Amino acid sequence: MKLAQRRHAIDSSGIRKVFDLAQTIKDPINLSIGLPDYDVPDSIKKLGFEAIEAGKNRYTQTGGNKALRDAVRQFYTDNGVAHEDVMIASGTSGALFLTLLALLDPGDEVLIPDPYFVMYEALVKFLGAKPVLIDTYPDFRLKREALEAATTEKTKLLILNSPSNPTGVVMTEEECRMAADFAEARGIEVLSDEIYEAFSYDGEFVRPSAYFKAPIVISGLSKSVAMTGWRLGWLAGPKDLVKACEEIQQYTFVCAPSVGQEMAIQAMKFDMRPICEEYMRRRDLIYNGLVDNGYKVSKPGGAFYIFPEAPGGDGDAFVRKAIEERLLMVPGSVFSKRKTNFRISFAASEEKLRAGIEILKKLAPR
Ligand code: PMP
Repeated sequence: MKLAQRRHAIDSSGIRKVFDLAQTIKDPINLSIGLPDYDVPDSIKKLGFEAIEAGKNRYTQTGGNKALRDAVRQFYTDNGVAHEDVMIASGTSGALFLTLLALLDPGDEVLIPDPYFVMYEALVKFLGAKPVLIDTYPDFRLKREALEAATTEKTKLLILNSPSNPTGVVMTEEECRMAADFAEARGIEVLSDEIYEAFSYDGEFVRPSAYFKAPIVISGLSKSVAMTGWRLGWLAGPKDLVKACEEIQQYTFVCAPSVGQEMAIQAMKFDMRPICEEYMRRRDLIYNGLVDNGYKVSKPGGAFYIFPEAPGGDGDAFVRKAIEERLLMVPGSVFSKRKTNFRISFAASEEKLRAGIEILKKLAPR
């Protein structure tokens, strides 16, 4: 069939090849997965059962049920984020897609720090806009000169993601201030994807959206309480943008899943500290395991990813070698213009992580 040109904006062949190869491995040590290694907490599951029983199985209001919207609004007010309105979307991905649909015209340029979460580049291209990747290697820090050099009169949007997928790097207060100052001086909108905020290990989370005058912030419940299948996310930002996203939702997704919305208010309040402490121990385990074996790597301050340099400088070849040893990871080229690194997810048991470290030791740089 002759498909639309835009279909080709999305190319997942790289990662598919890795996963096809992984399918052939028996009993793998899987450190490639982008979701927590626990199920939704029982107290929240219970709310889901109750909601189904109570008949909350119908469409909700387009922008989400009022109680949840109010809870999200309150959350950003409490956290010092300037916003005029909020809406509930089908996952953080849904909030991201609606925002880009509402904001971008063909030809608009979007600044994306590289490495980046795969959807950003693909969706920007999908809309006929232009992703402008900003290289942040080797420390994965955003620098003003790099932002300035990438900016033209067509630059419309800057996308931030802290803690980051795939590097785990958390933006500092200084970086946030710099980015805010830059965006304001240049009249550029800012979208801050804060989906990993619950996983922040070294002191309190520095919330990028709190530094901007009129940020667009997206987040959701897929990572914190592992509700990936319930598709629950949201968007907070300027009134006209939220209104536009709501209208687009009306003609596309219609509303976020009703049962997920019923679970969400409690899920937002779930105490993540014990999980965060546990994940911090895993972060330390994998980070030390890599450094002790000679890998070059930035210490992740959040999320559950670490992004070391591949020995020999070819992440694709390195990941293939690791898969032969039963260790599954994701090549850095999936998230970047460069292919020098690879991504490990430490959302895995200590036992799996230790087994992974043993294999990494075998493949270590010499
Ligand atoms: N943003 C980032 C940075 C992510 O890593 C992910 C999930 N991998 C998402 C957004 C999408 O999450 P959701 O399930 O809420 O759509």
